[in-house]
Amino acid sequence: MSLLFIRPTAKNSTKKDKRYMADVSASPLKHFVTAKKKINGIFDQLGAYIQESYNFLEETYQNAELDPVTSEEQVLEVKGYLTNVKGISEILARRHMKVAFFGRTSNGKSTVINAMLWDKVLPSGIGHTTNCFLRVEGSDGNEAYLLTDGSEEKKSVKTVMQLAHALHQDELLDSGSLVSVMWPNSKCSLLKDDLVLMDSPGIDVTTELDSWIDKFCLDADVFVLVANSESTLMQTEKQFFHKVNERLSRPNIFILNNRWDASASEPEYMDEVRRQHMERCTSFLVDELGVLDRTQAGDRIFFVSAKEVLNARIQKAQGMPEGGGALAEGFQVRMFEFQNFERRFEECISQSAVKTKFEQHTMRAKHIAEVLRQIMESVHVAAQEQRVYCLEKREEFRDRLEFIEKQLELLAEDYRMKIKQITDEVEHQVSNAMAEEIRRLSVLVDDFQMEFHPSPVVLKVYRNELHRHIEEGLGRNLSDRCSSTISVSLQTTQQEMIDGLLPLLPSSTRSQIDLLVPRQSFSLSYDLSCDKLCADFQEDIQFHFSLGWTMLVNRFLGPKNSRRALMAYNDQVGGTYTYIFVALAVLPLTCMYCYCLQIPRAMTPVNPSMPPMQQGAMTQEELMVSMVTGLASLTSRTSMGILVVGGVVWKAVGWRLIALSFGLYGLLYVYERLTWTTKAKERAFKRQFVDYAAEKLQLIVSYTGSNCSHQVQQELSGTFAHLCQQVDVTRENLEQGIAALNKKIEILDSLQSRAKLLRNKAGWLDSELNMFTHQYLEQS
Ligand code: GDP
Repeated sequence: MSLLFIRPTAKNSTKKDKRYMADVSASPLKHFVTAKKKINGIFDQLGAYIQESYNFLEETYQNAELDPVTSEEQVLEVKGYLTNVKGISEILARRHMKVAFFGRTSNGKSTVINAMLWDKVLPSGIGHTTNCFLRVEGSDGNEAYLLTDGSEEKKSVKTVMQLAHALHQDELLDSGSLVSVMWPNSKCSLLKDDLVLMDSPGIDVTTELDSWIDKFCLDADVFVLVANSESTLMQTEKQFFHKVNERLSRPNIFILNNRWDASASEPEYMDEVRRQHMERCTSFLVDELGVLDRTQAGDRIFFVSAKEVLNARIQKAQGMPEGGGALAEGFQVRMFEFQNFERRFEECISQSAVKTKFEQHTMRAKHIAEVLRQIMESVHVAAQEQRVYCLEKREEFRDRLEFIEKQLELLAEDYRMKIKQITDEVEHQVSNAMAEEIRRLSVLVDDFQMEFHPSPVVLKVYRNELHRHIEEGLGRNLSDRCSSTISVSLQTTQQEMIDGLLPLLPSSTRSQIDLLVPRQSFSLSYDLSCDKLCADFQEDIQFHFSLGWTMLVNRFLGPKNSRRALMAYNDQVGGTYTYIFVALAVLPLTCMYCYCLQIPRAMTPVNPSMPPMQQGAMTQEELMVSMVTGLASLTSRTSMGILVVGGVVWKAVGWRLIALSFGLYGLLYVYERLTWTTKAKERAFKRQFVDYAAEKLQLIVSYTGSNCSHQVQQELSGTFAHLCQQVDVTRENLEQGIAALNKKIEILDSLQSRAKLLRNKAGWLDSELNMFTHQYLEQS
């Protein structure tokens, strides 16, 4: 079949040459087949790529955690490409090469088709019985069948006669309708290579050339005009191709001058006839239609005998010699010319079909790949920008967090010292103020006004009210002395804390700091609890004569020692009235002396709760106790001696002086007894209370100081804790922000790498398409 085109090979031909040989010996139709396979593969990959890109963009667009890196328009655009490419893939899968045969009835169109198919596929020689177009294409099955326009029904045809009969029988076929002859691929290699051949009714039998062209010719890759070499080109034939040329740009037209075997009977005219036909046909194609250069005409105009070729091929297929042994003259030449036509036709149709059927779609695919590459590039850039922003933001957050932590540590230490200093000051201040108030307690007690009566019930009420008065008075006085300065320094420190920590707080809360850190008006609570403190106070408002024995001893020795002394004395004296009398006779004189010269001493009743005397005084009083005890002991042992001394005194001073002493003593007693009124009792009560309370309050001075300093510390610590809570909110916010940014960076990382991958895939598809273009579309 391809003998003419096998290049002679050198003995030492290289592998490359062998491959080339294999290539050139293969049918040129394979060019289309491989191109179709290749472009289908590319479109499959493009479809998968667009689907992947669409999923990626859709997912990215829906991701609420990210700022937009793609737009809805981009998503929709890619979605549009998805359907677009799917449609193109389907079209490409159905693409085939199509050759349409035209010519007048009985010029041998059907015979040419049969010769090319190496079999009697179409009925010939019986005239074109219908006005329909016959389209021969390959099918996968082993049986041939017919398909008519608008019907799915497969009509089985086993022989050409059956086909002719079927076409003849089918009255339903309209003029210019299409009947597909589905011929098994296995029987014909041409059909296997995606070639569709279409036989037309004779051009001379129709007036509907325009509608034919629109219906059947617009997708034809090659037109073959089957002319009769026994006559010249008819006007109707020419007119048809003029119309085709109007609709399609530079259609591929071959002219087969059929029945060239007839010229063999007149060999003397053969060359001349051939030259004339050649000239007319060339003129028609080059000058009239302008579809060729004159140099190309030799590859488009052939002189053949389809009938001879068909017969030879059928015989060969049946294992018989070509021409059945009786070869007509010039048969081989005509056979070679037919093969030459086939070769040129195959080259032309495959080249042309690849170009017309795939070029547009390749361009479209390149455009889509480029748009997607740009989209992925823009997503990549947007993700990268966002990632850089997130990284910077995260660094900023980390720096701020670190700053806050360090600053908080420093400030905490600072304020701890400050609080310590203030609380020390407060303790000192309160202690001093309280000591001062204790010294001035008598004034406060004297200020207390309430009806006094020595009855126990009134005394109880009086005592309670006095406690309350002292509590309030002391509290008020302490407050006057300390509170204002303490609260000023407290507020100053609080303000310092707020000013120091304010830069660490979230900006949103800075303006509301007064709400977040409550600072109620602070007032110190001194909490003296006078009632409990003085609960044991026991007043002594009984009358005590100031020159009575007890009082004198008391005056000399103090209340505690006097009792001891008096008890010892009573033991020693027993019931000896004589000795008492003598003592009374001696003592008034001494007492009178004391009364006149005495250093005023507080009339403090005997009270066990009184504080112990100082060490020096104790030693002196001990001495006095031992003296009196010694005196008593002396009197008991030497009572007779005392009587003698008494006699001596009597004699020495005389009775008048003794009587005067007694008189004065009595008068003094009467005077004191009369002035021991309720008022005096109240004074005594208050004096005793002042001494008692002062002593008790003294005990709680340091406690009260530290209590107040504790309150101040609590207040300041509370403020600092509140501020720290707010700083913690800032810290938490920053930590959450960092975590969110980490997540976002992670997402952006993967997004960026996916966008990059898809961008590179688009680049790869583009290079595949470029290779395809270079390999299949740029060859001419
Ligand atoms: P169509 O109407 O154009 O399809 O023509 P057909 O293929 O039906 O052929 C019409 C008649 O011409 C048939 O009898 C063929 O056998 C005959 N015929 C076709 N080609 C040739 C040829 O090359 N040489 C000769 N001598 N007869 C041919």
